[in-house]
Amino acid sequence: MNKYWSNFVNTLSPYTPGEQPEDKGFIKLNTNENPYPPSPSVIEALNTVSKENLKLYPDPDARLLKEEIANYYDVEQSGVFVGNGSDEILAFSFLAFFKKSKPILFPDLTYSFYPVYCNLFGIDSILVPLTDDLSIELSDYYQENGGIIFANPNAPTGRCLSADVLEELMKENPETVVIIDEAYIDFGGESAIPLTRNYPNLLIIQTLSKSRSLAGLRVGFAIGNTELVGGLEKVKNSFNSYPLDSLAIVGAVEAIKDKDYFEKTRKDIIETRKWLCGSLENMSFKVIPSQANFLFTSHPSIPAIELYGSLKKMGILVRHFNTARIENYLRISVGTRQEVEALEKALKFLLAHGGV
Ligand code: PMP
Repeated sequence: MNKYWSNFVNTLSPYTPGEQPEDKGFIKLNTNENPYPPSPSVIEALNTVSKENLKLYPDPDARLLKEEIANYYDVEQSGVFVGNGSDEILAFSFLAFFKKSKPILFPDLTYSFYPVYCNLFGIDSILVPLTDDLSIELSDYYQENGGIIFANPNAPTGRCLSADVLEELMKENPETVVIIDEAYIDFGGESAIPLTRNYPNLLIIQTLSKSRSLAGLRVGFAIGNTELVGGLEKVKNSFNSYPLDSLAIVGAVEAIKDKDYFEKTRKDIIETRKWLCGSLENMSFKVIPSQANFLFTSHPSIPAIELYGSLKKMGILVRHFNTARIENYLRISVGTRQEVEALEKALKFLLAHGGV
């Protein structure tokens, strides 16, 4: 309790992001960033933003970026929303579509910002348990609700549902908004963006933080029916007219334009994921099949928390969640081939020495 804070702030339980150590010597496999730098054309474009540009406010509608995204995904520009990272778009979406009388539904194990937004905005929720093998069973969502949200691929598992399967959910759930958080979709999943044409209550949220190597620029986007986007614009314009600064707009436009670089880097990550999965399995780890840029894995004999601590001492950061059902798992982001080979070497050493 803090006497200067409002009662409301005293009740908040904020999200805890993964560590961002100042020591840049760590091999960082803990926050699902892309191990490759952004496209060189992004850096070039950022250098062209002059003091004249920075003196002025950016375009409040980020029209150049919306146009680029609309072209890339072959959707109407009026069906595109952009925000300061997909986290901001998620927050706006909870307020725009989920603050209703009925509880929203999301998995018990998914992106841990969702319960934080529920707490912040006073939204009731029902946590729908993942199955024993940590899968989403869609028929569990065929019940009355104030909205539905999950990540696909899901985090932290990496498991992904196909667009056909998601369409079944849309058929069953015509009355409330369904949000699919596709933060990791470019690493092997099939986007449900085409379904937004037929389902006016479907909103897809993506980010440039992962597959386009721009976590530091803070750009996300949503695609959906014009009316859903209109609701998001209303919330955004009640909060901040310029969530995307001039640099973010210019850099994001170039990132979407450079399709070759995007294709090459995501292909490399998918290949490295395959290699890392095989390597972990050879060391007797159980690995959940992943369509994301991370693997969720546990070892039968050494507790995950011990491996996490020992790897950290050896200069390798991975993510461990102190959460029921998954406390014995590590989430390992797919780095460069060199980084995951260093991880393999460290794990082999630890397994040979009983975990310490
Ligand atoms: N959704 C999921 C499932 C995530 O894991 C993340 C990254 N922490 C985000 C959204 C937010 O990404 P950003 O705000 O960087 O776009």
